[in-house]
Amino acid sequence: MRSSITTEAVVLTVTDVGEEDRILTFLTPDMGLLCAAATSARNLKKGRAAPLDLFVQTRLTISIPGKEGKLKRVGSTEMIDPFLGIRADYRRLCAASYMGQTAAHCIQEDDPSSGTYDLILYCLRRLDTAAAPFGVMLLFEVKLLREMGILPEFTHCIKCMEVMGGEGYLDAGRGGVLHRQCSAGEYKGILSGGDLAVLRYLSERSLSAVSRLSVKEEDAMRIFDILHPFSAHHLGYESKALKMLKR
Ligand SMILES: [Zn+2]
Repeated sequence: MRSSITTEAVVLTVTDVGEEDRILTFLTPDMGLLCAAATSARNLKKGRAAPLDLFVQTRLTISIPGKEGKLKRVGSTEMIDPFLGIRADYRRLCAASYMGQTAAHCIQEDDPSSGTYDLILYCLRRLDTAAAPFGVMLLFEVKLLREMGILPEFTHCIKCMEVMGGEGYLDAGRGGVLHRQCSAGEYKGILSGGDLAVLRYLSERSLSAVSRLSVKEEDAMRIFDILHPFSAHHLGYESKALKMLKR
């Protein structure tokens, strides 16, 4: 017997199948990832954002098949926010793709993820209003690692346990920062005292508080480049969209 659910969701990935069908991955606040098929999704509104386009926030009804192994199907849809500003800019689109692909890798089906859902929506809103990509991606990465419970230690040296006063090396394998004299010296990325303060601020403050922090895009990109190998190592995933953004 079929049943149905109604939920708010963000479209994270879209795979076109045949002429008119697509299989979509949604991030929902209460049910984690949802994978469902939709018929004629591309014909809904030609030339404009449709409720089942990538990164659109939408309210939808999903019918759940009674038989195991059959795909869920999208029923009615109602667009909440199309985030049209993201679509208008290649770099912002790459940044949104990076966040969508990474979240789709980290969240499971039936895994309540309201923290990650709020984070994705917040980051999409920032990108939509022309925020620079790496500032948003750095915030996303720090908050996602915190949600996953694998945020590196930024306050104390993981070898001598003393408070970090100035610069430090991030050791991806050991999960935190080290004083220069406490490291074996083989690490590539040095975070300045200011960089570490930014990372601590992003990790500890609420989303509404971090919106008041202004980080230059070149600094956000440099800090992101040091933090990202840690994330890729611990999440076991590297997004293709990041390579496209850097090309
Ligand atoms: Zn130390």
